Amino acid sequence: MKPEKTLESNVRSILELLGEDPEREGLKDTPKRNARALQFLTSGYQADFDKIVGRGVFQQDSSDIVIVRDIELFSLCEHHLLPFFGKAHVAYIPNGKIIGLSKIPRIVDAYARRLQVQERLTSQISNHLMELLKPQGVAVIIESLHLCMMMRGVEKQSSTTVTSSMLGVFRDDARSRQELLSLLGGLGSTHGGRR
Ligand code: ZN
Repeated sequence: MKPEKTLESNVRSILELLGEDPEREGLKDTPKRNARALQFLTSGYQADFDKIVGRGVFQQDSSDIVIVRDIELFSLCEHHLLPFFGKAHVAYIPNGKIIGLSKIPRIVDAYARRLQVQERLTSQISNHLMELLKPQGVAVIIESLHLCMMMRGVEKQSSTTVTSSMLGVFRDDARSRQELLSLLGGLGSTHGGRR
């Protein structure tokens, strides 16, 4: 059976096990819709980074900090298969190569559309950019809300989880890190709260 069909029949079983009637009108197409949604939300496993980045990397002599902030992010927590969502802020200091700015959110999506923990997602993005651009430094900061905490009432409803991954000069040089945090404004006080 095709994976999509197997997913569908398993979703149907879940509905039954939850005491629902998968044949009632509202649920009739739910297994199909849920299977498709799950496949989309985990499509990052098939991401082709050569295709995503394409010819989006350029030679450029610049050592000025580049920041793409407030990148919308949606992912699934691997412990509960429930969404976590928020914003990613990505910064780097070039070392001869720059990347088209629109590529960075696409790299974020490629790693977010998987079963994740926020910590790993954060470092996968920073490591990817480090490898791709060999920059002087990369910083990735993610702030997000986890529905597995919010809906289950595990923690305060509005508590945000912040993770950061600093590589190169952002890790080694306090002045670069300070410059970044002041450019990012209000994030400075909480960065690194959970690594
Ligand atoms: Zn969770």
